[in-house]
Amino acid sequence: NFLPRSGLNRLAGSRTGRVPVGIYGRRPRIVVTGGAGFVGSHLVDKLIARGDDVIVIDNFFTGRKENLVHLFGNPRFELIRHDVVEPILLEVDQIYHLACPASPVHYKYNPVKTIKTNVMGTLNMLGLAKRIGARFLLTSTSEVYGDPLEHPQKETYWGNVNPIGERSCYDEGKRTAETLAMDYHRGAGVEVRIARIFNTYGPRMCLDDGRVVSNFVAQAIRKQPLTVYGDGKQTRSFQYVSDLVNGLVALMEGEHVGPFNLGNPGEFTMLELAEVVKETIDSSATIEYKPNTADDPHMRKPDISKAKELLNWEPKVPLREGLPLMVNDFRNRILNEDEGKGM
Ligand code: NAD
Ligand code: UDP
Ligand code: UDP
Repeated sequence: NFLPRSGLNRLAGSRTGRVPVGIYGRRPRIVVTGGAGFVGSHLVDKLIARGDDVIVIDNFFTGRKENLVHLFGNPRFELIRHDVVEPILLEVDQIYHLACPASPVHYKYNPVKTIKTNVMGTLNMLGLAKRIGARFLLTSTSEVYGDPLEHPQKETYWGNVNPIGERSCYDEGKRTAETLAMDYHRGAGVEVRIARIFNTYGPRMCLDDGRVVSNFVAQAIRKQPLTVYGDGKQTRSFQYVSDLVNGLVALMEGEHVGPFNLGNPGEFTMLELAEVVKETIDSSATIEYKPNTADDPHMRKPDISKAKELLNWEPKVPLREGLPLMVNDFRNRILNEDEGKGM
């Protein structure tokens, strides 16, 4: 019977969202939707390592069991194959809601499914949070700023988004998800947290997800040219995954709703990124120019003053230190792939 506990939970544990161990005779129980994906699996590792019970919900669209296989058999870990577009009943203390494809190639593959995931999936997770009195964290995105007219971007900027473009299923979907979170917060008293995540990279990214860092790293390892879209002068700011995971946990545990930019302010053009990849992996790598995609934002860089001040968080790993940390993982997986093909 979890209902009385949830009530108590609100009264006793709600200030921090963490149920003190012992009061209810059990550890905090946490749901991570999208936990089989790139960011989600690193977050799950951190929560398991600090002693929580973790339930992952994932439909394996872009996620992989391989990302979690080291936790199979751990009694504090549970994996549910489930699509967040459908309702689900669970009893937990916190919900980290990550389920949604993040790479443009994946989210454009079935745009209607992407928007359903963002809208209906987020609605269901907020409905769940409301029913059980759980704290809810949304992983929104820097894409809510669209092709920004303010640089760097602060949380107060409302964005410059095309509502009918190829990226809209994702950026308008996330904007709606933010709206839903705020409406459940204001209207139903749900404790919500909103993170606006900037481009993040690290081990376990899908090898061929089309994102620039995974593309360049895989291409350099495979001795293929690095594909630069457009003139390569567009900018992005790249954050290493452990910095993001620390930021997400600080946000969940803190007192502030947000939204908070979580990103590394180090800004690079795609040509500069290609240079860093060459320095790190293969100085003889070449560059091949390709046409850019529609509505590609020209620049992106987070202003993280708010997260620094209120969450006491800032990224620690610069690009030149983070890139080498994903290269071994990519090398091993590319090697396994080649062996699988009998090469
Ligand atoms: P990812 O594609 O590796 O992970 C997403 C996970 O969600 C996958 O495991 C996928 O199978 C699962 N999923 C997708 N649709 C689902 C559904 N309908 N039901 C259940 N599970 C579903 O992406 P990621 O990079 O780990 O991103 C995680 C979250 O962070 C996403 O919400 C993304 O929008 C957000 N984000 C990521 C970045 C980044 O640079 N990685 C930037 C901004 C925002
Ligand atoms: N929901 C869910 N699990 C729950 C509670 C709700 O999946 O434990 C879903 C529910 O099916 C609904 C959505 O969350 O589609 C929103 O729920 P809410 O109670 O806020 O709204 P209502 O059901 O009244 O539309
Ligand atoms: N890009 C590139 N080569 C690639 C993949 C992407 O030059 O192989 C560019 C893309 O046009 C964009 C930037 O890299 O300007 C970042 O793209 P990504 O898909 O990684 O993320 P986004 O920030 O656009 O969501």
